[in-house]
Amino acid sequence: MKPNYPDTFLFINGTWRAGETGATIDVINPATATVIGTVACATPADLDHAADAAAHGFDIWRKMSPLERSALMRAAAELLRARVEPIAALMTQEQGKPLEESRIEIRAAADIIDWFAEEGRRTYGQLIPARQAGVMQIAVKHPIGPVAAFTPWNFPINQAVRKIAVALAAGCSVIVKAPEETPAAPAELIRAFADAGVPAGVIGLVFGVPAQISEHLIAHRAIRKISFTGSTPVGKLLAGLAGQQMKPATMELGGHAPVLVAADADLDKAIGQMVGHKFRNAGQVCISPTRFLVEEPIFESFVERFVVATNALTVADGFNPDSNIGPLANSRRIPAIEALLQDATAQGARIVTGGKRIGNTGWFFAPTVITDAPVSARIMNEEPFGPVAIINRYQDIDSMIEEANRLDYGLASYAYARDHATIHRFVDEVQVGMMSVNHVGLALPELPFGGIRDSGYGTEGGSEAINAYLDTHFATIKS
Ligand code: NAD
Repeated sequence: MKPNYPDTFLFINGTWRAGETGATIDVINPATATVIGTVACATPADLDHAADAAAHGFDIWRKMSPLERSALMRAAAELLRARVEPIAALMTQEQGKPLEESRIEIRAAADIIDWFAEEGRRTYGQLIPARQAGVMQIAVKHPIGPVAAFTPWNFPINQAVRKIAVALAAGCSVIVKAPEETPAAPAELIRAFADAGVPAGVIGLVFGVPAQISEHLIAHRAIRKISFTGSTPVGKLLAGLAGQQMKPATMELGGHAPVLVAADADLDKAIGQMVGHKFRNAGQVCISPTRFLVEEPIFESFVERFVVATNALTVADGFNPDSNIGPLANSRRIPAIEALLQDATAQGARIVTGGKRIGNTGWFFAPTVITDAPVSARIMNEEPFGPVAIINRYQDIDSMIEEANRLDYGLASYAYARDHATIHRFVDEVQVGMMSVNHVGLALPELPFGGIRDSGYGTEGGSEAINAYLDTHFATIKS
């Protein structure tokens, strides 16, 4: 059952409240294109208040022991687990994804919190052997300070929790600028931390005009670290602003994931895994498999089987239990994808299935498979961020690797092959942050998660992630 969708407020210094001017933005259900609620807009004065609160919250949080912080984080994870059903219903209303995908996202968020809660207890320093007797040299890790985190609408909770959990584990406070289009689910994430007893000021939540908020917060003296997930152009803009302030940044940006399918691949496995992965969240995923690079001998049969599996998917409102694919999350995606497909077909690509919007109510788009798109087509160069699989044929492994590396993106990649030498070539030569071979195994909390080149820098998972939220303090002491 759909619960009532609440209006969402700012969370500043432990209080839920409207912005200073009372301005709001409408929230729209993408399955019906109707307004379901509003979200409060922060003014510069609200942002100053949030930054001051984050400075105060940092003072409290960094002085708590890692064990105490860990206990509060774990309590928040338990609250999230207990609240999966009501939060999932909010997420599906505001974002559109099938209800089961919303539930999975919330459970995964709880796992991420648990993992970082423990990792925060292992921020070890070093005792460095001295050259003289009586000298002790120690390097310890301190939390870097209040963080400004900017998160997008495709995974309303998951994109936020990856930043919040690591910041809190390191002993930092954090202000989250969550997506205006999907505000209620991230607000519930933050409510779980507050209800678990995380002190006022340690986590703030703001919404408003993204460019105004990022400009204001990144320049604010209290903020010491920036983290952004979103498109490459916006990432470059924010990285520039952070650079001007000499503040480190973690950037998780776009991708255009190649899927290399060698002639000896297990096709049952490749099709069975990749069709579901491609159309998860209607393809609005930075690690979504996008360019299928298939070796010539199996090309026809790969396309045929991929299309059969694609046509078996049900596109429907995420509350329909049969739904595999919900609507696109916002109206901008429809013309964006239509334009990419129009350009591709004008340049000789073939639409094998889909290619069209479904109906006039809500923003549903048919899962689409295109073949033979030339490298000059925009869709071969720009992240489609929608339910489109591009399948092209290649004569040999060399040309597949060359195509995989053609773009400046370097986030995720996938490969299917049986021959070990081929697998090693894929792993060694494809220039990406992450590769998953013969299965889908990315994005677990304990694994590195991040890209290279235009896909950004830094990792949002695994044991390295916390380093970006810690400073090294060195002291040498002579007794
Ligand atoms: P967009 O580039 O305008 O926005 C992407 C995200 O960045 C949104 O959450 C937006 O609120 C935020 N944003 C935009 N300008 C900002 C600014 N100046 N300061 C701070 N935040 C800002 O585009 P969009 O229409 O929302 O999404 C389209 C593209 O964004 C997609 O095609 C995809 O490439 C990318 N995207 C990537 C991810 C990801 O997981 N990496 C998520 C969402 C969107």
